[in-house]
Amino acid sequence: MDNGQHVLRDAHLNRGTAFTSEQRRALGLTGRLPASVETVEAQAARSYQQLGSQPDDLAKYVYLNALHDRNETLYFRLLTDHLAELLPVVYDPTIGDAIEQWSHEYRRSRALYLSVDQIGDVRASFETLGLGPDDVDLIVCSDAEEILGIGDWGVNGTDIAVGKLAIYTAAAGIDPHRVIAVNLDVGTDNQELLDDPAYLGNRHERVRGEKYDELIDTYLDVASDLFPHALLHFEDFGPSNARRILIEHGERHRIFNDDMQGTGAIVMAAVMSGMKVTGGRFADQRLVVFGAGTAGTGMADQISAAMVADGLTLEQARARVWLIDKDGLVTDDMDHLPDYQQPYARPAAEVTDAGGTVDLLSVVESVHPTILIGTSTVAGAFTEDVVRALCAGVERPVLLPLSNPTSRIEVIPRDAIAWSDGNALVATGIPADPVERDGVTYHIGQGNNALLYPGLGLGTIVAGASRVTDGMLLAAANAVAEQVDVGARGASLLPPVEDLRASSAIVAAAVARAAASDGVATKVHGDLDAAVREAMWTPQYPPLDLASEMEAGR
Ligand code: NAD
Repeated sequence: MDNGQHVLRDAHLNRGTAFTSEQRRALGLTGRLPASVETVEAQAARSYQQLGSQPDDLAKYVYLNALHDRNETLYFRLLTDHLAELLPVVYDPTIGDAIEQWSHEYRRSRALYLSVDQIGDVRASFETLGLGPDDVDLIVCSDAEEILGIGDWGVNGTDIAVGKLAIYTAAAGIDPHRVIAVNLDVGTDNQELLDDPAYLGNRHERVRGEKYDELIDTYLDVASDLFPHALLHFEDFGPSNARRILIEHGERHRIFNDDMQGTGAIVMAAVMSGMKVTGGRFADQRLVVFGAGTAGTGMADQISAAMVADGLTLEQARARVWLIDKDGLVTDDMDHLPDYQQPYARPAAEVTDAGGTVDLLSVVESVHPTILIGTSTVAGAFTEDVVRALCAGVERPVLLPLSNPTSRIEVIPRDAIAWSDGNALVATGIPADPVERDGVTYHIGQGNNALLYPGLGLGTIVAGASRVTDGMLLAAANAVAEQVDVGARGASLLPPVEDLRASSAIVAAAVARAAASDGVATKVHGDLDAAVREAMWTPQYPPLDLASEMEAGR
């Protein structure tokens, strides 16, 4: 019997020094807390100061995790109030360092682990949560094969799902009590982990093929059956699996893959802003993607889908896309092309110097792309020659060197602006300082997925959408693009990551509208903007049911 003292140990219920005198008396907390009764704002101010005194970002990450485990409301208050500053701490890039240490630093878990070696336990694992069909809005899962440029981290990648959910809550007010983080443990091909005695996941190579598919099928069937309204977000899968799962299951389940669809849509937003400057349409674009992996082909998929929405056939749209990978231009005579590149393989006959590789410069010179995307992680690949050739082909090309970190970017914005005489419309994957040139300030937009997926998720939930359609992705991209004014030379193609809650609400309303017009919405709202606002969870301490907490303590 603890009267109600368990509330101090339960991060959902704990409010520390914010418990009122009456609550302290009723819950048996008399003498257990210092006298002062604080507001969440005062607590957040202290926590922010404590956070600031941490020596580095990894220490900040650890501090925030501990706060998350202690007092969830306060954690989200801090994260919400300082989201732009803390995004790189709770997620990419700091989370990469935390993942590498995860098995060694393991203390407790806030995720569900579904093992390829115990597929029969998937349902029972979800059932341990004791949640009903209306209790879950969102599940983020990862098999951690391809994490943020650091690759395969097996069960250590669990916090990818946890971190993504935290951003959903802070950026779009997704209720943190209605979400589940899932690690799909299929083993790892990371030898360092397999050799590490502290490694906590399945200690074998990644399982592929039928058994892998059986785990995915079971996960999707069970999750959709138990939580029929939940959006199923996929994160950091290997490129082949990511694409295959989306294609095979996207029509039957409410799936969203952020690496492909989220990234594709944020790039679409940048392209839409660029087209506002150039006056073009999707059907007129010619796209060259340098680095045709998960992100690059996801972008090619989305942009070609937009060309189709603009009147082209799928074949015509794909004919306006050129992929370049390690072996140069992707052509249909190449052996072992990954499935996600095949739809875009150019006819070998189109290429004159048959047998040799066709490099980026030759492609740019012959194709005159209106959009050049870099997702290769090859630093400096967009040379002065390439940028000048790009601008010789079209007056105002959209140039998106998206690889990160900064050491891997295809061209630094200052060079891109200089070599294009300010004509290239540039956005990057990294945060970049504005560039001054000839009295003009060029603001460099950052293609940060956090501008898009939280609002997309919220809109999907508010509409009760049964699928995530291309129309919803397009609407999300458009809602992001609408938030920038590209009227002045040098304007950014994307909004800043500063006020994510407001921009997520705009994206959510647009997505819910698109869900309704695509016929996948199951909820109808008179005033959609108000419905979105009301659906957003805010980090405030809710009224506390003293009687039931005292009862729970008996
Ligand atoms: P990935 O490993 O799946 O893809 C990279 C691709 O580049 C691979 O297909 C690889 O073969 C190819 N490549 C390597 N060397 C090359 C060369 N010399 N020439 C041409 N191609 C080459 O990785 P990914 O997940 O697609 O991410 C790629 C990059 O894009 C990363 O730096 C990532 O951080 C960045 N990215 C940015 C955003 C964003 O800005 N919103 C979103 C997603 C990814």
